[in-house]
Amino acid sequence: MTSSPKMCREGHRCEPVTLREAWHCQINHSEMRIDELARRCGMQPRVLQNFANAYGEQMVPPKHHELLLELTKDNLAVVTYLADVQESHVFRVQQRTVLASTAEMMRDFSAFLSTLSEANSDGVITPAEAIELKRRGGEAMSAMAALVSDAETRSLPKVPGPRLASAR
Ligand SMILES: [Zn+2]
Repeated sequence: MTSSPKMCREGHRCEPVTLREAWHCQINHSEMRIDELARRCGMQPRVLQNFANAYGEQMVPPKHHELLLELTKDNLAVVTYLADVQESHVFRVQQRTVLASTAEMMRDFSAFLSTLSEANSDGVITPAEAIELKRRGGEAMSAMAALVSDAETRSLPKVPGPRLASAR
């Protein structure tokens, strides 16, 4: 776990190994202050602080999950933790122009391939190199998702989402 909210927000994100640690990060290291989060969830700040204690015993009640995740959109700690449990990957979709999306996708894929090539140059990928590859790979996939999202936004009529497509 990263020790300070500032470090976590400025690129050294926590890597929670338990759901409790993930909630700790989600609640304590997001942009919205904990007293404001508590107020918007209808809780006393000290109650929310107990839920956010990485070493405490009380878990965030499920009825608060959706609102807390909505209010702390800047932090992907909980969804990333849950995705890891399911051997999946989370990436943030950002709206950009096709040109900007394409340029970013090319740059991020290039950075990923360079990192992969460098990491594999001695035939062994260390845990630190694997973490860096995961980060670079996530950025590259996020850039690709932004490009797809941009294309989808421009399409008329809208491309149906997976739920609509499977309902046919
Ligand atoms: Zn954190």
